[in-house]
Amino acid sequence: TPPAVRRPIRDLPDELVSQIAAGEVVERPASVVRELVDNALDAGAAQVTVRLLAGGVRLISVEDDGDGIAREELPLALRRHATSKIASLADLESVATMGFRGEALAAIASVSEMSLLSRSEGQASAFLLDARSGELRPAARGTGTTVEVKELFFSTPARRKFLKTDATELAHCVESVRRHALARPDVGFAIWHEGRLVEQWRAQPLAGGDALARRLADVLGEEFIAQSVPLRHSAGPVTVTGRVGIPDAARARADWQFCYVNGRYVRDRVLTHAARSAYEDVLHGQRQPVYALYVDIDPARVDVNVHPTKIEVRFRDSREVHQAVRHAVENALAAPRAGAGVPLLP
Ligand code: ADP
Ligand code: MG
Repeated sequence: TPPAVRRPIRDLPDELVSQIAAGEVVERPASVVRELVDNALDAGAAQVTVRLLAGGVRLISVEDDGDGIAREELPLALRRHATSKIASLADLESVATMGFRGEALAAIASVSEMSLLSRSEGQASAFLLDARSGELRPAARGTGTTVEVKELFFSTPARRKFLKTDATELAHCVESVRRHALARPDVGFAIWHEGRLVEQWRAQPLAGGDALARRLADVLGEEFIAQSVPLRHSAGPVTVTGRVGIPDAARARADWQFCYVNGRYVRDRVLTHAARSAYEDVLHGQRQPVYALYVDIDPARVDVNVHPTKIEVRFRDSREVHQAVRHAVENALAAPRAGAGVPLLP
C-alpha cells in the first residue's frame, strides 16, 4: 500500500546525515581502529598505540607521535568533508595518503563520544576538544595526537545489536592493526586490551636488513619466513614485491593473504585470482596459499575512491596488474629456494 500522505522534501538534520554516512564507514570497533590508525600514519607517526576496553565498544584510544593538529584546526578535523590531504581533483587522482575523504572523524563522532587531544609541532601546549560539547581547552601531552572514542553506537542501538562478543570484536581490531603493521614495518605498533598488552610489533629500521621479513616474522611468526620466498618483479608501471609461501605453507583458510596497493590494504579479486593462478600447478585441493603482496603502481592507473572504506580499488588496466602479479609469484615459486624453505633470519 502506498503511503497515505506524501511528505514534503526536506534537508535532513546534519546529525542524521552524519549518522547515515557513518553507517558506510563504521561497521564495528575495528572500522574505527582502521580509520584512526590510517590518520596516525598519514600524520607521519613512528609509534602507534591502540588501547581498547570491551573489544573497543567501551573505549578505543589511538595515540600517535605524528605531527599533530593545530589548536585552530581541531574543530575542522571533526567537520564532514574537511581534510588536509587533498584540495583538488588532481590531488585526488594522485592521492598518496590513506585518507582523503575527510569523513572518518565526523562519522565516528556521530556514533560515539569522541575527544581529540593533540599538540602540533612547535606548539607550546596540547589542546583537548570534546566532540559533543565542542569544548576546547589546554591539556598536556607531547607532539602528536590521541583520539578517544567511547561508547560506540550508544546513540544507534540498532547498530550496537549487531556487535559480537568482546573477544570477537577485539580479534577484528587486532586484525585491522595487523594489516597496517604489514604495510609499515618502519612504524611500531602496540595494542592493549583491558590494560593487558595484546600485541607489540617494534619498528624495524628500513636501512640495513630486510625490514619487511622481520615484521612478517613478528606478526605471522618465524615459520612464515622459513616457509616463504621474497619476490620482486617490475612490468611497466607495476612493481610487485613481498613474500609468498611455499606450497607446503598453505593453510586451510585464506586468512594469510595480504594484498596492498600503493601501501593500502585491499581486498581485490584481480590480485587474489592472479596469485591463486600462479599456484595452479603446485598447490592442489582446497588449501589456501599464504602471501603478502605489495603492488606499487602509478596512482593515475588505480582508482582508490571506489568504496567508502577504501578497501576496494579499481585498476585502469586490470590485465596488466594480473599479469605482473602472476609472473611475480610464479617466478618466486620457481626459484630454487622455494622448494627448500631456508630460513632467512639469523
Ligand atoms: P581524512 O583522513 O580523510 O582527511 P579524517 O576525518 O580521518 O579525514 O580526518 C580529518 C583531518 O583531521 C585530517 O585530514 C587531518 O588533517 C586531521 N587528523 C585526523 N587525525 C589526525 C592525526 N592522528 N594526526 C594529525 N592530524 C589528524
Ligand atoms: Mg582519515
